[in-house]
Amino acid sequence: MDWEGRLHAQGYRVTPQRALVLAAVNELAHATPEEILVRVQRQSPRVNLSTVYRTLEVLEGVGLVTHAHLGHGPPTYHSVDDNMHIHLVCRRCDGVESISESIARPFLEALDQQQGFATDIGHMAVHGVCRACREVPDGR
Ligand SMILES: [Zn+2]
Ligand SMILES: [Zn+2]
Ligand SMILES: [Zn+2]
Repeated sequence: MDWEGRLHAQGYRVTPQRALVLAAVNELAHATPEEILVRVQRQSPRVNLSTVYRTLEVLEGVGLVTHAHLGHGPPTYHSVDDNMHIHLVCRRCDGVESISESIARPFLEALDQQQGFATDIGHMAVHGVCRACREVPDGR
């Protein structure tokens, strides 16, 4: 089903605003609502932040976008077509690396088998210090 079909199937209308917000999420890859707003306003200057938030809720509700928490600020939004990935967030440079979830498979399988827990690994981030920052002596 295409994205318009998904909206219709759940009783939502396809509006230009919803189309613009979805396009922005798809283009930006890791975008906060504020970043999405900036992109959407290029074509539709009167859209405001609360509209973007409401629209993202609708799009997430029908399964067209997902979000992840990469830090203390607002979540970042992803297209559902993005491959599931793990976010590595560096606390020194604030860099975000996206890596395949396959690296976590033994951990996820253990949680499944021992706890009966199905982990939504894309929702959270792994925090630490990236390779480049580790190679720089402390004090920066
Ligand atoms: Zn991501
Ligand atoms: Zn969340
Ligand atoms: Zn770093």
